Amino acid sequence: MIKTAMEKFVIVGAGMTGASSAALLRKILPVGTVVKILDKSRGTGGRMSTSRSSTGNSATVDLGAQYISINSHYAKVHQSIHEELISQGLLKASSGVIEDDKFGGDDIQQYITPAGVSSLVKYFVKQAGGEVAFEEHVTKVDVVGTKVKLTTLKGEEELCDGVILTMPVPQILQLEGSIRHLIDSQPKVKENLEKVSYSMRFAVGLFYDAGVTLSYPWAAKYFKDNPCVCYVAIDDKKRGIENSSVGSSAVVHTSVHFGMKHLEEDKEEVKNIIMKHVRELLPDLPEPSEVKGHKWRYSQVHKSYADEPGCVVLSHSPPIILAGDAFSHSNLDGCLTSALSARDAFVKSTGVKLPSNHL
Ligand code: FAD
Repeated sequence: MIKTAMEKFVIVGAGMTGASSAALLRKILPVGTVVKILDKSRGTGGRMSTSRSSTGNSATVDLGAQYISINSHYAKVHQSIHEELISQGLLKASSGVIEDDKFGGDDIQQYITPAGVSSLVKYFVKQAGGEVAFEEHVTKVDVVGTKVKLTTLKGEEELCDGVILTMPVPQILQLEGSIRHLIDSQPKVKENLEKVSYSMRFAVGLFYDAGVTLSYPWAAKYFKDNPCVCYVAIDDKKRGIENSSVGSSAVVHTSVHFGMKHLEEDKEEVKNIIMKHVRELLPDLPEPSEVKGHKWRYSQVHKSYADEPGCVVLSHSPPIILAGDAFSHSNLDGCLTSALSARDAFVKSTGVKLPSNHL
């Protein structure tokens, strides 16, 4: 039984946690209740982003998350979700060589996403009903009676019956409105939020014309001793696509140390420094037709919220729930854990019933 009729529930963030939370809520809310996702960026994915070449040859590159690494614990706990993604052709066991793999191991099965990592997030958005409003930067969260009012940078207002905020924690702490009072009035929560930290790094996507081959024995390689580059992947090879008529692409990730050192410098200048290191490391790499740079100010969670609770409930009525990889850990299963925990917290706060066959 729902305590009050819910008309609209909003998720802020169209990344993996936001999309999977929205899909889980869609399953338990009555048909008439709107589940809407707002994101400040122009596309779906967040840190699971797949970037397109601007030359129009439809090549793509994953600039953030690369491999979906599933350990034996999560293979059991999230089995039905993994199986669903595999049956949809969105997840596939990796067969390419990962040289000097930092994350592999006997307990881990590595998966790739044939259509790019953002395809996983898009799948959950579709399950949620597909309602995403892009370029909606939420700056203010207020409790107004039994409702939550969200205000965006453009000055637009959205009134809803509850919200799950899934942006990185430093961005939650920048929000204005009565959410500040909610955080300030719970000193332990505030302290734990302030202690969350992320690594930072740059990524560079390289696009090649069709017919140019990148002949390396590996699909991805980690570099331990380079002052700048820590990882390079031949994106199409990593995704199991060889001899593509579209053209190859590659991604370079810098080390966290390099990311911290150059964080506030001009993105274009940093891109040139990275390319200089790449040419030294891989002298036979052909010249790309396009180079795209990206700064990940919040890359992977370095220090999670204390005890990794999955989510934090700031208010029960109306529900204001904080979720995201910071409340678990930085990978697909971390995001799913957080989304499931946010769904359960939502159920507790609202009295909505879970179906008997729920995960
Ligand atoms: P996010 O993806 O950050 O989503 C938050 C969303 O909120 C974003 O879309 C953002 O635009 C939006 N937002 C922020 N502020 C606002 C606002 N004020 N208003 C509206 N919208 C807002 N994981 C793996 O599983 N395997 C890997 O190999 C891997 N490698 C990685 C490599 C890199 C370089 C990076 C950056 C990440 C990697 N990760 C990897 C981690 C993984 O990408 C993250 O754990 C996951 O994507 C986090 O999802 P999320 O939804 O919690 O947060």
